Amino acid sequence: MAVSAPRDSERSAGRGIPDTVAQLRATFRSGRSRAVDWRLDQLRGLVRLVVEREADFAAALGKDLGRDAFNAWLADLAPVRAEAKFAIRHLPSWMTPKRVRVPVGVQPARGWYQYDPLGVVLIIGPWNLPVHLVLAPLVGALAAGNCAILKPSEQTPACSALLADLVPQYLDPEAIAVVEGAADTTQKLLDQALDHCCFTGSPEVGKAVMAAAAKHLTPVTLELGGKSPVIVADDAKLDVAARRIAFAKQLNSGQTCTAPDYLLVDRRVRDPFVAALTKAFQDFVPEATMPIINSRQAGRLARLVKHAGGRTVQGGTIDTDAHRGEVTVIVDPDPDSDVLREEIFGPVLPVVTVDSIDDAIAHVQQGPKPLAVYLFSEDRANERRVLDEISNGSTVINHLTYHVLVNDLPFGGVGNSGTGSYHGKWGFETFSHRKAVLRKSTWLDPALTYPPFNRVKQQLLRILI
Ligand code: NAD
Repeated sequence: MAVSAPRDSERSAGRGIPDTVAQLRATFRSGRSRAVDWRLDQLRGLVRLVVEREADFAAALGKDLGRDAFNAWLADLAPVRAEAKFAIRHLPSWMTPKRVRVPVGVQPARGWYQYDPLGVVLIIGPWNLPVHLVLAPLVGALAAGNCAILKPSEQTPACSALLADLVPQYLDPEAIAVVEGAADTTQKLLDQALDHCCFTGSPEVGKAVMAAAAKHLTPVTLELGGKSPVIVADDAKLDVAARRIAFAKQLNSGQTCTAPDYLLVDRRVRDPFVAALTKAFQDFVPEATMPIINSRQAGRLARLVKHAGGRTVQGGTIDTDAHRGEVTVIVDPDPDSDVLREEIFGPVLPVVTVDSIDDAIAHVQQGPKPLAVYLFSEDRANERRVLDEISNGSTVINHLTYHVLVNDLPFGGVGNSGTGSYHGKWGFETFSHRKAVLRKSTWLDPALTYPPFNRVKQQLLRILI
């Protein structure tokens, strides 16, 4: 475990997690992080960090994930910059206390709620977008005036080390720390009774994080994964649907939480749709194979493909040693196969044939609540049914993944795909406490409100309250 401690001298002195937390708590207690100017300074620092060090991050993302420089920028850096700039623009209005109406029985008085920072918060990131998914939640945490600990994924060591090196250079080192390590380090962090934990990762680990946080009543935001389906109805514009699905699936080799996990395609359009889909993949992915993070993940994908059954209409080879894989499209895998049960998180795409929109909805309803549901249809009645009958985090109609770019939309799951949300103002809300305040005036203090409550008083109070 390595701790990017607030000061180099302290880091070399080998400060452990409790000391790091104590330092951040002291900073928080000083009140420094509450000031709007401090928050804006940190957010500007974050923008500078991802702009000035783009080449360093691209190199680290290339090393950890085999990504090229453009995709490093697109998936990990641009969204953080956009999120921070949006927060800078809106922060003063978000922070303004909000007045509420006070009922007659409580008058004369003034009521409002104000946003209080929570304290020292923990942000735990996954490996697939290893920079984006620690720095984007950090935007909300800093906007809300908190101190923060970032725990990047140990599966992406170059990105983790780079964050540990650069974050203290660009952000207040006495308020924001990076702690590197794996599960045991994360559990130690959770044992520090922190004020909030924002976790992005798998549902299984989410349970362990929630259990550890529960010991201290640390509130959690869980940004989890799962199987996000795409429904292609019989009236869908097939070429558009095929292009958009192929585009979303090839991003980061399918290793994104909003990637299409599997398709539910109406029997009447399945064959022309599959032809359009394989053509779109050929156009968008000219290389024979795509990078997969490591041999362990490649081995998992190879197992899913091997035992899928069905008809492989594109690709089919996953090279475990080289950890690269062909884009693989499998039509009608065995209903009990793992490829239709586990989250795929890679360049493998099952196509399940359905007979109707009812069939497709019933299929999704049988499984855990997805993070995203995508529908391709021109029919508003189909849209209404999918929105009303499926419980899931976000729905996009006639596209995929673009919802993450809309700052005003809350991003998060429900049930097995997560709890809580962030992005834009929702991140600010997640990392704030809405403190209710009531200020009573003292110039009026009627005897009516005090005992003994005789009949007249009782009648009056029944009218007023
Ligand atoms: P993971 O759950 O294996 O790991 C996530 C983080 O948890 C890592 O930092 C890891 O060190 C830590 N961790 C691992 N075991 C732990 C334990 N026992 N206790 C405490 N911490 C522990 O996830 P991953 O493999 O890095 O990422 C892939 C998963 O993340 C997929 O399920 C994907 O859908 C999901 N994901 C969700 C979103 C979202 O925004 N909803 C975004 C990206 C990825």
